[in-house]
Amino acid sequence: MREVRIKDTLSGELRSLEAGSEVGIYACGPTVYSRIHIGNARPFVVFSLFARFLRSEGYRPKLVVNVTDINDKIYVAAATAGKGSEEFAAAMTRAYVEDTDRLGVGRPDSEPLASETVGGIVSLIAELVDGGHAYESGGDVYYRVRSFGNYGKLSNRRPEDMDQGEDAGSASLKEDRLDFALWKAHKPAEDTSWDSPWGPGRPAWHIECSVMAEQELGAGFAIHGGGSDLVFPHHENEIAQSEGAGRPFAKIWMHNGMIETDAAKMSKSEGNIFQLSKALDAYGREAVVAYLISGHYRQPLAFGPEQMEEAVARVERLRNFFRDQGLGEPVGGSAGKQRGGPGDPPTGAQTGAAARGEAFRDALADDFNTPRALAEAFELVGEANRGEVDKGEAAPVVAEMLDLVGLSTLTQPDEGAEGDERALQLMEERERARAEKDFARADAIRDELAEMGWTVRDSADGPQLVPKA
Ligand SMILES: [Zn+2]
Repeated sequence: MREVRIKDTLSGELRSLEAGSEVGIYACGPTVYSRIHIGNARPFVVFSLFARFLRSEGYRPKLVVNVTDINDKIYVAAATAGKGSEEFAAAMTRAYVEDTDRLGVGRPDSEPLASETVGGIVSLIAELVDGGHAYESGGDVYYRVRSFGNYGKLSNRRPEDMDQGEDAGSASLKEDRLDFALWKAHKPAEDTSWDSPWGPGRPAWHIECSVMAEQELGAGFAIHGGGSDLVFPHHENEIAQSEGAGRPFAKIWMHNGMIETDAAKMSKSEGNIFQLSKALDAYGREAVVAYLISGHYRQPLAFGPEQMEEAVARVERLRNFFRDQGLGEPVGGSAGKQRGGPGDPPTGAQTGAAARGEAFRDALADDFNTPRALAEAFELVGEANRGEVDKGEAAPVVAEMLDLVGLSTLTQPDEGAEGDERALQLMEERERARAEKDFARADAIRDELAEMGWTVRDSADGPQLVPKA
């Protein structure tokens, strides 16, 4: 078991995980008011693969990713769509699961919904009111920020730089402008409400994560993750809520950087691919996953057609490496030759491949440095292609590397749909629809193919059908 270290946002230091123990990881998930975009996919992929790596090293991770299905934005979006907010949020939650399923990195161990956590939320708010950390005002309940001495420790902000970003209407209800909402009284425009000691209403946003993290992982769990845009106010407020109630919260804070788009370059059609499902349609699962781990998780990552084409080229290089192996054939330059027989000298090449494999894992153990790890994979592929390392030695090592980062399908490059005429016909129809910018038709065909068990992968040689994961 390697020592795995993570840079902690709170202390600014590299912190080691406790060996042998369960590693509880709580990562904030999406607010389901629209289809998710590539920015939501980054934490999903990073934390899923991080948990996978920990498991492969003998740790016992438990990954919890919540779904915020009660929120102002949902009421507004549902009303605009002419739907009830519960029905709308449920449909968007299904779309989120569908879209993230297509990433093929598995599902989190637990995915609690805000709407199923209201009882626990009311209890924690009542605890905070009893302890003097919160107060009722006009049917709302607010957290009394100045009652919590450690407020601001995560984001290192001065009180005058703190803006909770809440609606101006609640300002008159707050004792102090720093205070933030825990509970919102029912408003006529909202079509759902829950009973509470403060009257009918609904949870505000931050409180659900304090409750879910403790319910799923217990107090004092290992890692809290999420996008760096959540450090303030969301995560600062989660700390105030949980520690205000007298219990330890996360030991390590792990934040991923933002996906950055060049607004000037993103024409209307290019902006389209910012939606995860569209990016998956356009570039395929492997390229999207490879793109999302192409930079260090803590750094911002530029997004656009250029970066995605680059990711396509990178995954094709890996796919071709396995295609060149010839499936089921003896591999390597010494094809057919028995290796490891008596008298065979130990070759430097064998050591080379194994050493790259170790370096790959070392990079992931060192603050989950995926770009450094992937560089090892590409070095090894290059060495094998140039004949500096035996391909037969390199292939299983590269395959294990790719499996760790959710790209194992690249090792089966030629699993195609040659036999399925109807599917091939549909794929051609889909290409025509896309060329004519009839995206609704293209989406419908993709869904039909999915029902038949196929997914379309866009490769350098044009679109291909592969069996659905
Ligand atoms: Zn959260």
